[in-house]
Amino acid sequence: MSGPSMHPVDVANRVIDSGTPEPPHNRVTEELVPVEDDVAVVESFSHCWAVDAGEGLVCWDASGVQSGTKVVEALRGWSDLPVDRLVYTHGHVDHVGGSGAFVADAERRGDRRPTFVAHEAVPARFERYHETSGWNVAINRRQFGGIRDRDRFGMGGDVPRFLHADVAEPDELVGDRGSFTVGDRTFELRHARGETDDHVWGWEAERRTAYTGDFVCWMFPNAGNPQKVQRYPIEWARAMRDMLAAGVERVYPAHGLPIVGRQRCETVLGDVADALEHLADHTLELMNEGATIDEIIHVVRVPDRLADRPWLAPQYDEPEFVVRNVYRQFGGWWDGNPANLKPAPESAVAAEVVRLAGSIEALVDRALELVEAGDLRLACHLVQMAVAAEPAHEGAQRARADVFWHRRAAERSLMSKGVYAAAARESEAALGEEIAPNEFRSTIRGALG
Ligand SMILES: [Zn+2]
Repeated sequence: MSGPSMHPVDVANRVIDSGTPEPPHNRVTEELVPVEDDVAVVESFSHCWAVDAGEGLVCWDASGVQSGTKVVEALRGWSDLPVDRLVYTHGHVDHVGGSGAFVADAERRGDRRPTFVAHEAVPARFERYHETSGWNVAINRRQFGGIRDRDRFGMGGDVPRFLHADVAEPDELVGDRGSFTVGDRTFELRHARGETDDHVWGWEAERRTAYTGDFVCWMFPNAGNPQKVQRYPIEWARAMRDMLAAGVERVYPAHGLPIVGRQRCETVLGDVADALEHLADHTLELMNEGATIDEIIHVVRVPDRLADRPWLAPQYDEPEFVVRNVYRQFGGWWDGNPANLKPAPESAVAAEVVRLAGSIEALVDRALELVEAGDLRLACHLVQMAVAAEPAHEGAQRARADVFWHRRAAERSLMSKGVYAAAARESEAALGEEIAPNEFRSTIRGALG
């Protein structure tokens, strides 16, 4: 038996004990699964973990705005207790977006409104989301699949709000540490930076259980994201070490599967820490020798031993982007190339290169040759220059769509796929037709739903 009907702890045990990615471990079923007598998870995006504390429920994360209602429904099939506390492990929209559904549930039942608990940096995040709402909607559209309706994002219109109006502001804020008690259960909250600057993880010492939010996500850590604000790979690794030092034996994450058993916790959390520490240490070592980011990204790699671990698969983010975020955390925005300090417009540089090459076609032909030869990185530069030099050139736009669809097909992480698909679609929009090769088009459709 496999798939959603298999208990998530059994799936986790199989994957961790075998070291192979079977059965699939990132599931979103919107269904509740009891994990202990008094602890359950609704497997959603993100998950909501619920603890029956006798006098009320303690919930970890509200899930997203689209899934909040389903999550509450699933929860109500399991327990009739009011929700006493709901902890936001951090302020990302897939963790807070469903809070409105929890408030509505309390109102419907005549319960007291749940107390929302979060790190003290969450309100500033919400403020930032309001100030940069259109920007965040636009980059998320690109990241999660494309820009078909990008025209809606430029000039006002009915752009959806990034943070929904019914998201509950936190009622109780915690700093470095906090705790709360419901019934006979006491939970500690510990702040650490990692994916965000506002992350807390929950710790129930008596049960050696950590509610980890996104610190454990069953894929390569989202510590590099090219379109988003600073992430903290070094602190993320330290949080893994802190959980292990606290004596964790049960890890209940917001994405992926519960990890039960000390040895399994050591394996997964230890691997995540090792991978991030290696990338950070090597990057800092090279920075200290005066290396540029260009030199660094082409040599720093995850050690071979960790490359095939199912819980480190670069499905969403990837190591190369984490290297860049380490550099950004300690360096500036300048890439070390003096021409890029105060550059000419890209279109002007491209026009010069086209002039030297003799024609746009020369650049386009070489780009397509490089695709054939398998050098997609280089092909992208040339085809991008061809279009920058002359955006109205049909052959250049056609080649650009082709090159970027190829690039997308060759990538594993959603962040890379999203950016490359968006580029290809931009050229298709300029041409007024879809030109992706059929073989890619079908995979793309499948992947994007
Ligand atoms: Zn998340």
